[in-house]
Amino acid sequence: MKKKTNNLTDFSKVKIIEETRNISEWNIVDGFKCEKCGTEIIDYSRREVDEYTGEVYEWEYTPKYCPECGRKVVDE
Ligand SMILES: [Zn+2]
Repeated sequence: MKKKTNNLTDFSKVKIIEETRNISEWNIVDGFKCEKCGTEIIDYSRREVDEYTGEVYEWEYTPKYCPECGRKVVDE
C-alpha cells in the first residue's frame, strides 16, 4: 500500500505565540487595553515590602501577558 505524501507544513508542530498590543490611551505602565480581547486594566502597580523596615513600595509595572486572554503583550 502506497503511503500518501503530504507536502504541506505540519502546523501542529509549529509553536505559535499569540501576541497582542496595548491599545489604551495610556502608557503601558499606567494602563492596558488588550487589542485582542478588549480587557482594560488601569492604575496597577507592583508592590514590594521592604523586609527590614516593613515599608511598602509601589513600582511601575509592565504586564508581559494579557491577564484575561493570556496573549503576549508586545510593547511597540
Ligand atoms: Zn487579552
